Amino acid sequence: MTGGAEDPDRIFPPAAPRASTDPAGPSLWEVAVTLPMWGTFTYRDPRPGVHIPTGTQVVVPFGTRMVTGFVLGPGTPLADEEALRDIESVVGAEPAFDPEVLGLCRWAADYYQAPIGELLRAGLPQGERASSVRLVRLTPRGERAARGEDAPPQITLAGLDLGPAAVDRDPGREILRWLLEAEGELPWRTIAKRLETEQSPRAPGRAGNRIARLEEAGLVEVGDEVRDRRAPPTVAVAVAVTPGDAGSATAEPPVRTPARRALWERLRVAADGIPTAALTPAERATVRALSTGGWVRVERRPLRDVVRPSAPSQEGPTPTEDQAKAMAEISAALGQGFATFLLQGVTGSGKTEVYLRVIAEARAAGRGALVLVPEIALTPQLAGRFRARFGDDVAVLHSALAPRERLRAWRRLRAGEVGIALGARSAVFAPVRNLGIVVVDEEHDPSFKQEEGVRYHGRDVAVVRAQRAGAVAVLGSATPSLESRYIAQQGRFRRLLLPRRATPRPLPPVELVDLRRHPPGADGLFSTPLAEAVAANLAAGQQTILFLNRRGFSTVVLCRACGHVVRCAHCAVSLTYHRGRERLVCHYCGTEEAVPSSCPACRQPRLERLGIGTERVEALVRERFPGARVARLDRDTAGPGGSGVADGGGGLEAVLRAMNAGEIDILVGTQMVTKGHDFGGVTLVGVLQPDQAMNLPDFRAAERAFQLLEQVAGRAGRGDRPGRVLVQTYRPDHPSIIAVQTHDYEGFVRGELAAREEVGYPPFTRMVALRLDGSNAGEVRQAADAVARTTAAAGGDRVRLRGPAEAPIARVRGRARFQIWLASSDRPALTAAARAAFGVKLGSDVRLVVDVDPQSTL
Ligand code: ADP
Ligand code: ZN
Repeated sequence: MTGGAEDPDRIFPPAAPRASTDPAGPSLWEVAVTLPMWGTFTYRDPRPGVHIPTGTQVVVPFGTRMVTGFVLGPGTPLADEEALRDIESVVGAEPAFDPEVLGLCRWAADYYQAPIGELLRAGLPQGERASSVRLVRLTPRGERAARGEDAPPQITLAGLDLGPAAVDRDPGREILRWLLEAEGELPWRTIAKRLETEQSPRAPGRAGNRIARLEEAGLVEVGDEVRDRRAPPTVAVAVAVTPGDAGSATAEPPVRTPARRALWERLRVAADGIPTAALTPAERATVRALSTGGWVRVERRPLRDVVRPSAPSQEGPTPTEDQAKAMAEISAALGQGFATFLLQGVTGSGKTEVYLRVIAEARAAGRGALVLVPEIALTPQLAGRFRARFGDDVAVLHSALAPRERLRAWRRLRAGEVGIALGARSAVFAPVRNLGIVVVDEEHDPSFKQEEGVRYHGRDVAVVRAQRAGAVAVLGSATPSLESRYIAQQGRFRRLLLPRRATPRPLPPVELVDLRRHPPGADGLFSTPLAEAVAANLAAGQQTILFLNRRGFSTVVLCRACGHVVRCAHCAVSLTYHRGRERLVCHYCGTEEAVPSSCPACRQPRLERLGIGTERVEALVRERFPGARVARLDRDTAGPGGSGVADGGGGLEAVLRAMNAGEIDILVGTQMVTKGHDFGGVTLVGVLQPDQAMNLPDFRAAERAFQLLEQVAGRAGRGDRPGRVLVQTYRPDHPSIIAVQTHDYEGFVRGELAAREEVGYPPFTRMVALRLDGSNAGEVRQAADAVARTTAAAGGDRVRLRGPAEAPIARVRGRARFQIWLASSDRPALTAAARAAFGVKLGSDVRLVVDVDPQSTL
């Protein structure tokens, strides 16, 4: 943990007004622009005496273009008055950031050594991926005014003498007319351009000010719209065509076999249709046949916000003794200033129930709540439980939300209309009012670390946010990260334990299948014990999860004649064969290629597909258990591109729903199946090849493997019937495997902490990774050498330096990659060393990224 012990205000004192704003003269403002730029800039507001609140979004000239920025406070006068430029426009009637979040962004920019503008961009509701377009929309009132039904209020610009020409043609009225002609909505830029060309030359083209006036008068709304290239996620659903529908036939459908008839019946009674992902290949064939005859329609439906709550209840179950104890401790701390709890509860121990109760208390005291989860889209059940308990008081900041909805959620939080924000890591910047409690569920999850742009850790920023707000932070996990566990050991986090499941079912026993004694069969996958267990579970009519953390069909394509492995042209990795698409795919850059028929190196037709991914597992399972209803959950089937009838994918939510409805017998998947799902019917979990995860070149490999195994094991036996877990392994004596066998987190932590201490890894030291890349490997190496020399000199003997070395994945997207790793238990020394790296002159093509508290070693 990084943030817990820091005093952020020591690093970044609260901004004090540094310049006087002379009521008569122009005022100066400190502005951070949303560009990867260091530092902030001073701009002048030509309107004398106007106060711009901190956090307000502005448009300012920067070089030759106009860019978005945020006012951080009063600005410092420049020595060179001539260099001072004017704020072009002020966006919106109220600040985009409240001071609390702005302060958090400033802290994070400093801590993660990232430009403040980039942090501010990350903190905006649009998220970090997409570029946005500012739109101006007519409000109903504006529409009436534009139609001349209401007299528009006089719109003039305070303090600006627009001259008689401007009075003739009120620019506000003109904008309203343009908007009406454009059906109520126009890009901000379009309006600005028209004003520039059509405006009387005596009036400066400050479109923003005009629009702001209209906004203040309630005539228009300004919002940033994300132009996201991704299509919104949808699910393919087969629906029976009812006789009233156009295109349906009147005769009997061609369902002569009992299986086809049964499917037809199911389709007819399913009001919402049946997700194609939940159908067997034979059933999908039937659906295709029926749809050709007009009996069935396959539609793509948008993924809904969340799954409907299963059992809405304000109350929730009576807490167990352990839960009650944990709740009592947390509630006693609420409202008493900053404190952090580490809620360590085994899978199914009812951590969520603890969150719900203490959040309810905070809300009853009028304070807001922030809840971070690893991937909100993967855990619709959790969102459903929050909805069931808190109804409309929760804003679910789902990545599948339309940008407009996301913006609305943001506004409602800021206005205090909604008190709880629930989302993935970027929700840490959500404008929750009067924050009282911050919850981070599955705090150990690597997805809290952002691995591009600003490399912040959502959990750590969350703790700092709680600290700054004087709120309580609750970090929950069955397998807390070693960092958090270590801080708890030192007494800086208070540990709360839920050692038992909340339901009468104990944790499932874990059996190891030693692959040296029970080798996988001819399919290279199933040992006899696992195959038998799956068959027995199937015969008993119960559900099975099979976990393999690699997607695709074959992970390696190798030439049997010359040993050549087919690799990505841009990355130093082998290509994965995807059978559904019949392509070779690079999992790092996304490049796809046709499958070659002969070896690209020696031209012999002896290419062989080796290595097993989930797609192959699915195919093997279908072969081996022909009657079983099989589904697959990985990035290929779950995502927005999630496929339909043709190749057997079909959307995460559909799979989860079918799983809960008992319509799937065997679910195959990557780590997506390990997340907090609460499937009552799963009684068997099979772990196929965990050894790869343990062998990664990463000092956290053992920890990650253990966490993943414990997580997937926790999916078994959550309902009425006891569960069991089978783990196939060649290394039954590996510490991660031994620990998972007895669910022995404490034992694992003892051994692992001792090992880390011996070699000086986190949590005993702090780390910074300096990552360099460029198209020319020689140049990057040279730059890395120079950076290493400089940082070594700056860090002195307080900082241990390793490298520069080629990254384990030496090339991605055509760019060679080198790394330097800095470690120290002295944070100021570490920071100074890392800072020094920025002073090194790099080639124009070489990029340097400073990764503070790095999580990935690749
Ligand atoms: P965790 O988040 O620790 O894995 P959950 O909060 O998902 O656990 O709880 C697991 C299951 O136990 C859920 O189905 C939940 O409804 C149930 N549960 C939680 N608390 C109780 C309780 N006090 N009594 C009965 N059932 C409970
Ligand atoms: Zn690639």
